[in-house]
Amino acid sequence: MNGHFSRGLLVHADFLIIGAGVIGLSSALELARRGARVTVLDKGGAGQESTWAGAGILSPLLPWQYPEAINALSEYSRALYPAWCEALHAASGVDPELRQTGMLILPPFDARAAEDWCERHAWRWALRPSREFLSHLGEEELLWLPDLRQARNPRLIQALKGAALAAGVRLVEHAQVSSLVAENGRVTKVMARGESHAAAAFVVAGGAWTGWIPGLEALRPRIFPVRGQILLFRLPAGRLGSVVYGEGQYLVPRVDGHVLAGSTLEPVGFDKATTEAARRDILAFVQRVLPEVGETDLVMQWSGLRPGSPDNVPCIGRHPDYANLYLNGGHFRYGVTMAPGSARLLASLIHGEATPIPASPYGLPGA
Ligand SMILES: Cc1cc2nc3c(=O)[nH]c(=O)nc-3n(C[C@H](O)[C@H](O)[C@H](O)COP(=O)(O)OP(=O)(O)OC[C@H]3O[C@@H](n4cnc5c(N)ncnc54)[C@H](O)[C@@H]3O)c2cc1C
Repeated sequence: MNGHFSRGLLVHADFLIIGAGVIGLSSALELARRGARVTVLDKGGAGQESTWAGAGILSPLLPWQYPEAINALSEYSRALYPAWCEALHAASGVDPELRQTGMLILPPFDARAAEDWCERHAWRWALRPSREFLSHLGEEELLWLPDLRQARNPRLIQALKGAALAAGVRLVEHAQVSSLVAENGRVTKVMARGESHAAAAFVVAGGAWTGWIPGLEALRPRIFPVRGQILLFRLPAGRLGSVVYGEGQYLVPRVDGHVLAGSTLEPVGFDKATTEAARRDILAFVQRVLPEVGETDLVMQWSGLRPGSPDNVPCIGRHPDYANLYLNGGHFRYGVTMAPGSARLLASLIHGEATPIPASPYGLPGA
């Protein structure tokens, strides 16, 4: 790799990104497309943490319950998603399976708040009798949001990784960053596996581990782990046509008949165990929607550690203590939803451009 000089220091990349989840890789791709030389380091395999574990619903679950900062970023990303996935597919040969399956919401729900939100954000909505979709639920009225999309996370990450490599991004897996080295208010290099990696600027996209990277401990109240568990079932293809949401839980159907069901929200630190209690609770919800499903249809149970944040608002912008260190993290329940928009927002901040949406809600105090 060619080096170049910046402030008298030999650097080997314009940007070094810590973390190859959906946020780190989408940031890398965006910066590389603008001509930068980008290196990404991950302590494990690319996309194998929260990004792999997620359900791939591309919207906040009940968006009318979230602050404007969440809706602005997820709606901006929503507008980018179709072209983004098409470009990832073309560059990598992997189809992320972006599909508009819609979402059915079981009662209770606040129909007035939902209607108001949908009207303001140009989402279609309708109240529909449950017999049209799930006849055993009787005469209940369901809320139908036909515009909701989903993607298949393991494929999305493969597509994103392939597209980033094709754009010239250098990806180093199994390289845990163990320290940041700084001089005069600038990070000069990071250490990983005993090797130093220098760059002109750095982006931290370490997911739930962000505040545990040595030197970034002050971020722990801002970004923290929240475990989520999911069950995967194999059902006949076409048995379930849309995402179904009810009282905090959801089902997500894949094209081939697999159905994901989840998820828990557990503040248990970095414990990635799966539990019998979660299996029972999630299975009870699955059987409320699909009574014929039983334990024998269960293929797998897993957990992931979301990068939790107060009110689910991510940090996107410069670190207050270092002139060349940026953050993109804390997307909590909606990092896949918000990835393309977050990457564009970060890149426009780094390049000093007008931002596509107001950036101040995501900034760190003092930056
Ligand atoms: C059960 C569950 C369901 C979910 N469902 C959805 C959903 O339907 N829709 C949605 O939009 N979102 C969903 N999410 C949330 C979404 O998965 C996350 O918000 C998103 O994946 C966060 O991406 P990230 O890149 O910040 O984190 P991660 O994917 O966790 O990536 C962070 C990366 O940083 C690396 N790293 C950390 N520390 C270091 C270090 N010191 N050195 C090098 N590398 C390091 C890690 O190895 C990791 O690969 C769900 C999450 C879970 C767990």
